[in-house]
This record gives sequence, structure tokens and C-alpha cells, in this order.
Amino acid sequence: MDALITRRDFLGSTLLASGAALLGGASPAELLADRDEFTGYGGVGEYSTSNGNTLQVLRDGHSIRDGLYDPLPKEIVDAGESYDCVIIGGGISGLAAALFFQRQASREMKCLVLENHPIFGGEAKQNEFLVEGQRLIAHQGSAIYQLQYPFSFLARFYDSIGLKAPKLTYQKWAGGQPELVLSRTPYEAAGLEHGQYGFWFGARFGHKPGMWLIDPLGKNLEGAPISQATRVEWLRWLRVQPVEEKKFEHPKVEGDAISRYLDSITLEQHYMERFGLSRETVRTLLSPVEGGGSGLGPDALSAYSDYAYEMLHPLADETSGTDQMFPGGNTIIARLLVKSLNPAAIDGPNDVEGVSRNIVNSSVLDASGSKARIRLSSTAIAVQHDGDPSKASSLTIAYLKESKLYRVRARSAVMAGGSWTTKHIVKDLSATHRDAYAQFYRSPCMMANIAMRNWRFLYKMGMSGCRWFEGIGNYMEVRKLALTGIESPTINPDSPIVLTLKVLYSYPGYSTEEQGNRGRAEMMRTSFREYETRIREQFTEMFGRAGFEAQRDIAGIILNRWGHAYLSPQPGFFFGRDGTPAPREILRNAPFGRIAFANTDLAGAMDHRYSILEAKRAVEQLLDQVLT
Ligand SMILES: Cc1cc2nc3c(=O)[nH]c(=O)nc-3n(C[C@H](O)[C@H](O)[C@H](O)COP(=O)(O)OP(=O)(O)OC[C@H]3O[C@@H](n4cnc5c(N)ncnc54)[C@H](O)[C@@H]3O)c2cc1C
Repeated sequence: MDALITRRDFLGSTLLASGAALLGGASPAELLADRDEFTGYGGVGEYSTSNGNTLQVLRDGHSIRDGLYDPLPKEIVDAGESYDCVIIGGGISGLAAALFFQRQASREMKCLVLENHPIFGGEAKQNEFLVEGQRLIAHQGSAIYQLQYPFSFLARFYDSIGLKAPKLTYQKWAGGQPELVLSRTPYEAAGLEHGQYGFWFGARFGHKPGMWLIDPLGKNLEGAPISQATRVEWLRWLRVQPVEEKKFEHPKVEGDAISRYLDSITLEQHYMERFGLSRETVRTLLSPVEGGGSGLGPDALSAYSDYAYEMLHPLADETSGTDQMFPGGNTIIARLLVKSLNPAAIDGPNDVEGVSRNIVNSSVLDASGSKARIRLSSTAIAVQHDGDPSKASSLTIAYLKESKLYRVRARSAVMAGGSWTTKHIVKDLSATHRDAYAQFYRSPCMMANIAMRNWRFLYKMGMSGCRWFEGIGNYMEVRKLALTGIESPTINPDSPIVLTLKVLYSYPGYSTEEQGNRGRAEMMRTSFREYETRIREQFTEMFGRAGFEAQRDIAGIILNRWGHAYLSPQPGFFFGRDGTPAPREILRNAPFGRIAFANTDLAGAMDHRYSILEAKRAVEQLLDQVLT
């Protein structure tokens, strides 16, 4: 356990130089001061210096929060640039905003995107490993997309950026061994219905060493170390069988009576009502994984958060389900957006294969002649009207790049960076908007990508995926990958793969805000080395008896720490409480002076489709009401 994972296949590993001694009693601030202990290994390729929120991004973010640049210092450099629109944030929402602006504004109008990370994409980025000579790719955050109705706005938008065949083709099983059913996404648990999935119960359930229950559904949970009453409840949940007398109807349209009722209670209450679960079952067996994908446990969330995604009505596909995923998740959508904005930004054709295989030409992203410039490693720290917001004809935007402060002028701005920075950097925001943003709580998530030389140990146990209820992470899946940008069209137990652990932080009983703060502190305080050790110990405990050896089988680990990963909507977030308007509506209804608001968090649901739709609305508001 003490030996470091060998990374002889990797270039540029930084971890090896770091010392465990640094961990002893170190405060979060001390750990943050050490890049290696925070960042760890970043992989190879274009994303190797941008895994999760970088330390520099965190430091710059904290300097905004702590008011270090209030008021703006005199020595700020005037970049001498003026834009029709400056867009804060180069995630899918900011990039989509730039594209809508480019397509819909007059031909002479120019925009600038300011993005604080070293590469664009926001939560839609990927990690790359080189293992046994193969390039392995996995998502850092945003993973799946859905098939849309062919003539819907989203389907036409995908098509317009080069995603012309959204239904993807995936790796096939190869080799002589009998096939296991594999998922296409991290969330599918395809093995569960086929008896090829396992639940692991450890010390929390009185088992040390822990025990496996393979095929928990087929075995009706017989053998699980839980009471008969819990077994009955949990089976109802796993089989999605609501209690008889509580016939449940999903919301049909946003704002209907069902959705409003759901928004008035917590997700925990809803699970208890719908599935007849006890609070203890929710907290022991479901939390935080079944938190509606919103970061925290269901006790803190609006029940409607579990259904908000359904309101985009994806196209049901009977043969293969609706969810699709590129090997690196929605990274490809961000890359297609950039290629559409500036064809020279990535060589090759404007299609999925083109942007998967070719690298970004960083030098042209911010070329002065471009109508849509993208400036990376640039943190916006202040956005302010030049005068009274209701009358001003321009804005001043200050940003930090390589520890230097600059300012540019703009006729309008789209805030697409997310609630947690927007509320700090729009300096003259009205009290009403400020109050609205104060009701947005975001919580952390760490995505740990673990490159494996093979997955024979899982195969030997007859599992393609599994779930556990203590320790680090909660579940993982062997994924068959879409055939885009990867080398092997087939997969078998000897194939190198990446397993992804999603680490969520929930503290049932605490408020939404407090849960987020505690989770962030825990995630930021824990060093790379500590997390690496925990992952290796967890795997050894769970799979050691099936032949897993950390030193031999794990080829490398990348941690993607997202400090403000998810919006965690509390009850009342979506439709307001006691007759007061919902906070998101205040921000969406109209621009504030020359500033419009985007980012997926305004929808209350973390989904790249909302990133696009919120961007469209924000840009159209500026074109309709602000830019003459
Ligand atoms: C772990 C995880 C899994 C997810 N899985 C899925 C999924 O499977 N499918 C799906 O559709 N969605 C998923 N999402 C949701 C994801 O948020 C969206 O898909 C989408 O990527 C969000 O894009 P965005 O542009 O709205 O926000 P972001 O991606 O957060 O982009 C905002 C960007 O602005 C930058 N920024 C913020 N403040 C500033 C500033 N002051 N100056 C400069 N830059 C700034 C941020 O650092 C970031 O790069 C997931 C999210 C997470 C965290």
C-alpha cells in the first residue's frame, strides 16, 4: 500500500516528487499552497494542465470573494480593446453564447470570451492517459447527452455545429471469453438487470472483511446484511415500484400542479412518500448518489430537481435508450462549438472525428482580427456599468491574467460563469438580483479517473459494474466507448480502461449551504496523495480477493476537483415560496442594464442543453433590448 503507483507509461508525472510528510496536520491553506499536493497527476495531452478547478483558478476565485481588488487598483492596464459583447465563462454556455452572438448579431459586431482555465470547456473537459501504448480518454465532469426530436431546436443546433449523427456506435465485445453486458455511460448500470452487477457491504454493515452480493436484483437482496423491512423497501426502490396506494405521475410541463407540489418538499420526503422508504434507508443506502444528480443528499434538495431534466423531453430510442456519450463526455460539444466559432481553432473538418483527433491551435483563439475571441487563463474580477445601469452606454470589465490586471470596454455582457462568481463580480448588481443569487447554492464534486491496465478482476467476479456504501466513491461501471477519437473498436477484460469514481459530499441534517461548505473544505483540504491512498485501499479491500493488485493494475489516477460543481436547488427554488418569485426568474426575466445572465445553473438543472438554451435567451435579450 505504501508504494506509489508506477507510471512508467506516463509523461510528465509530477506526483513522484511530493512528500507525504506535508500532510501531517497541514491546514487547507498550506495544502493549497503546494501545487503537487493539490493537483497531482494531470495525464497527457491538451487537458493535462487543467484537471478540475486548477489551483490558480481557486486562488483567483478566492481573491474575488475576499474583495482583494475592491476598489480596482490604479495600476490596472487598459488593454485598449472594445467589444460589442464580453462573455464571462468559456464553458458550453459561454461558448454557445458567443456562437449565437456571431450568428445573430450584425456582421461587424465583435465579442470576447474570458475563461479562467487554461483550456475552454468548463465542466465539459476530458482527461487523457497513455497506457500500454493506448490513449485512454475519460470525462472530467459533463458526460452524457440525449437524442433529441430530429426537428427540435437542440437537434438542429447540434447539427449546425457538426454533431450530425448524434446516435453513436460503440465498442463491440471481442476475444474468446463469454460476453458481459456493458454500459455506454457511467450512470446506466446495465449489468444490474442482467445479474452482472454487485453490491459490496463493509464495516458499516458489520462485515470486516466486507462481503459481495453479486446479482442483488436476481437474488431479491437475499444475503444482504440488512433487515427484512429494509430489503422490501429497497427492492421497491431498485425496481422503481412505487407503493401501490401512492400512484405517482411525473410532471408533464414545467410549472404544472405536480411540479409545484414537488418543489414544495424535499427529495427525501418525496422518496419516502413515493417508495415507502424510511429516512434511515434513504440516508444509508441512497444518499448521496440518489440526490437527483445535484451534489448533496436528498434531504437538502427540492424534489422537483429529480424531474427538471425530463422537461426537455429527449427522444426515447427503443433500440438503445436515449443517452449517448463520447469517450471524453461533452468535451466534444465544447470543441465543436469552438471549431464553429473559429474554423482555424482546430485543424481538420468540422465534425466529431475532426475535433476529437486534432489539437487546438491556441495561437488563433485570441487573434485580434477574429470576430469571436477566446482569452484563456483570464479571470474576470469586475463587471460594471460606466454610470447608472439604466442609462449607461458601456461597461468596464476587469480581468486578471498571469497576476496582472487588465480592463476592456464592452457595450454588453453575458455572465455565463455561474452563480458563485457572478454574484461577486457584477459590482453594481441591484439588491433584487443580489438576493436572487444569494438563493443559489452550489456544492462540490470530485471526479476521480482511474486508468486500469485491465479489468480482469471485475470480469472474474462476473460484474461489469458495482455499488458500495462507505469509503470513497459509491459506484463505477466498465464502459464500452463510442468509436470517436479512440484506437480500439473492441473491448474485453484484458483491455486497458478508465474507471470513474464520482465523489460527492453530503452531510444529512445540515442546511444546503452548510453541506456545500463542509464538502468543499473536505475536498480542498485532502491532498492528492491521501485520495490516491484511499482509492487504492478501497479497491484492495473490495477486489483484492479477486486478484486485484493496486501496484500492478492501476496505471494512474487523475483527480478533477470541482469546488462548485452542482447547483443544489432547495425547496422553493424552482417556483418560489409564499408568493415570492423564484430566484432564477428574476435573473432570467430581463437583462440588468447591459448585462444578461446565462449558465446552466439558471435552469436549476445541471445539463449542457440548459447551458445552450440559457445562452440563447441571454444573447437574444441583449440583441432585442440593449444593442442598437
Ligand atoms: C461531475 C459533473 C457531471 C456532469 N454530468 C453531466 C452530464 O452527464 N450531462 C450534462 O448534460 N451535464 C452534466 N453536467 C452539468 C454541466 O454543468 C453542464 O453539462 C455544462 O458543462 C455546464 O456548462 P456551463 O457553461 O453552463 O458551466 P461551466 O461548465 O461551469 O462553465 C463556466 C465556466 O466559466 C468559468 N468562470 C467562472 N467564473 C469566471 C470568471 N470570473 N472569469 C472567467 N471565467 C470564469 C468557469 O471556471 C467555467 O470554466 C455535469 C456536471 C458535473 C459537475
